[in-house]
This record gives sequence, C-alpha cells and structure tokens, in this order.
Amino acid sequence: MRILVVSTPVGALGSGRGGGVELTACALVAGLLARGHRVTVLAAEESVLPTSCLAAELWTCCGSSQTSAQHQQRSAAITMPADGLLQAFWRRALLEGPGAGFEAVINLAYDWLPLWLTPLAPLPLFHLVSMGSVSEAMDLAIAELAAWDHRRLAFHTRVQAEDFCLPQAPVVLGNGFDLDAYGFCAEPEPLLGWAGRVAPEKGLEDAAAAAAQLGLPLAVWGLVEDQAYAAAVEASVPAGTLQWRGFLPTNQLQQQLGHCQALLNTPKWNEAYGNVVVEALACGVPVVAYRRGGPGELVQHGLTGLLVEPDDVTALAAAVAQVGAIERRACRAWVEANATRAVLAERVEAWLLAGLT
Ligand code: UDP
Repeated sequence: MRILVVSTPVGALGSGRGGGVELTACALVAGLLARGHRVTVLAAEESVLPTSCLAAELWTCCGSSQTSAQHQQRSAAITMPADGLLQAFWRRALLEGPGAGFEAVINLAYDWLPLWLTPLAPLPLFHLVSMGSVSEAMDLAIAELAAWDHRRLAFHTRVQAEDFCLPQAPVVLGNGFDLDAYGFCAEPEPLLGWAGRVAPEKGLEDAAAAAAQLGLPLAVWGLVEDQAYAAAVEASVPAGTLQWRGFLPTNQLQQQLGHCQALLNTPKWNEAYGNVVVEALACGVPVVAYRRGGPGELVQHGLTGLLVEPDDVTALAAAVAQVGAIERRACRAWVEANATRAVLAERVEAWLLAGLT
C-alpha cells in the first residue's frame, strides 16, 4: 500500500517533545517499510528519521506547535495557534494526499481536527489514539468517530480504550520496538531507573521516594518538561538520590538503562501504553509499576516485573527489594514475543485492510 503517516504537531521527530509518539512513529514506519509498503511521513520541520526509516519519503511543514492536550483542563475548548502546524499538516495531507495516491492515512497525533475531518476527508483517515481520556472535547470526537466507523480507530492497550465510549470491542495494536536497538544486560548494578517526560502526570516523585527509602540511586532519563516540578522532586529526597541523565537517543538510553536492577514506572494518569516499560524489558530490566493504565497491562506480574497498588510508595519500595527473583531473560523474551516492530506492523496492516473493506 501507499501510506501517509502523520506525526505529532507537538514537536519535531527526534526532539523528544512528542514523547512516546516519536518512537511509535519510527517503529510503525520501519515496520511497514519492511513489509513492502511505500510510506511517506508528514512531520514538523527539523524532523529527523532514523536509519531504519530512510526508505520513507519525508514531507515537512512549519508552524507553531500544538499544546499537548494533557497539559490543559479537561473541559478546555479546542484551540489552535493561527499559524498552527496542525492545520498545516492537514491542509497538506488533504490537498496533496489524493494526488499522491495514498490508500490510507495514519494519524498519530492526539488532536481533535483530524478526527473531526475524517468523515469529510477525500481519502481514508485512520487514527492511532496515543493517550487515554484527558479532554472532554476529545472524548466526544472519539465517541462520534467510533459511532461513524469504529474501524478507523485503534488503541495501544485495552485499559486505555476503556476510557472512551466505543460501540464495539476496540482494535488494540500494542506497540513495536526494534529489538536490535536494545542490548540485553544480564548483570545489573546497584542502580534503579526511571524514564519519561519529567512532568507531574508521570509521578517521578513516587519513584524518587521509593529509591530514597531503599538507599539506592535512581537514574532519570527524559526531557524535563516542567522545571519547577523537577526541582520539587529533587528537593523531596536526599541529595544524590536522583542522577539526572538528560534526554538521550535510544542507543545511549538502552546502554545505560540495561545496568539497572529495575525500572520504576509510577504514572499518575491512565498511561496509554508506556514505551519505557517495554524498552526496559528489552534490555532485560524488570519493571516495578503501579497497577494502573498501560504499564499495569504490560507488566506480567511475577514474570517480567511486579505490580503494586497505585500511589503506594511503601509497596513500591518493598516490591523493588524483591525484584532479584525476576529472570532478566524472561523480560527480553516477553518483548520478542509480543512487542517487536514486525508484530506491530502486521497488526497495523490488518487494521488498515479491515478498515478499507
Ligand atoms: N525517551 C528517550 N530518551 C530518554 C528518555 C525517554 O528517547 O532519555 C523516550 C522513550 O524511548 C519513550 C518516550 O521517550 O519512547 C517516552 O514515552 P512514554 O510512552 O513512556 O511516555 P509519553 O512521553 O508518551 O507519555
């Protein structure tokens, strides 16, 4: 097929501002290319595609970034900057898409406009929803589109899809990872890890508190979205507990992450998936997470990590102390069976084919 993949209008691919969507975009494109599809990526100016995606054509647009829906009030009206990247994407996709011969367009952004356009568009639009419910306007747009044709929507996990009003069982795609990009590390060091955007919904403060209780350092990788929040977390634990490692490209991230005894994943929201959970598992690092959202569905309790009641820091620390019982090989094996790029691409292809009939 000839497929257009529309990236996030929050930031350029490779910047980190797009969060997990950036990795999803690259995995999806590389996986579809490997299955023989012709793929064009529409993304913000300055986007960089990884080597695995170089066979894709890159279209870029410029414009002001869209504010992430998770950083607004649930009841907020939909707004777009006058020179918005979001509008630029969809103007180009809808004007040039039919002539370019795309058979399907996959939207990866959590935005109202492409959902609303779908019944009116001159070519079939499909949406991989990247978050749970964070906005009333988005809830309504997703419910309306699902009622029009639920096959145009897919989700990362079942628990994410449960946030929305859907007439039928959802299409659940999981996510995909290039296992060659993650080295297996059999022997951990006395170090805990945490990775993600440093923002309140990610709950870094709980992981920091558990690390402090255990007297272990916690390495933190990720883009600091909220400086005041990061400073407050730093101040909440003894100096030296947190090792701020910055936002690293995947090859460096995985190299460092692999040395951890465990990854702590402590979201305060219904995380749609949790890329970092699977990235840690791919390195052989067990995950100790709250039984909430995507991580609660991904972590196989007792096999690839341990799940504890949400927001219970004492239980989190106690579980981390038990993590030596988890086989690091079993963590990697779970990813090999359930979350490779090839597995994702097969599921995406089946989703498109079903939706096009
Ligand atoms: N990430 C990265 N380098 C870092 C820390 C994080 O590339 O130093 C990436 C990570 O690979 C993951 C994304 O940031 O793909 C975070 O995605 P996740 O699904 O965990 O959360 P989101 O940010 O989408 O809410």
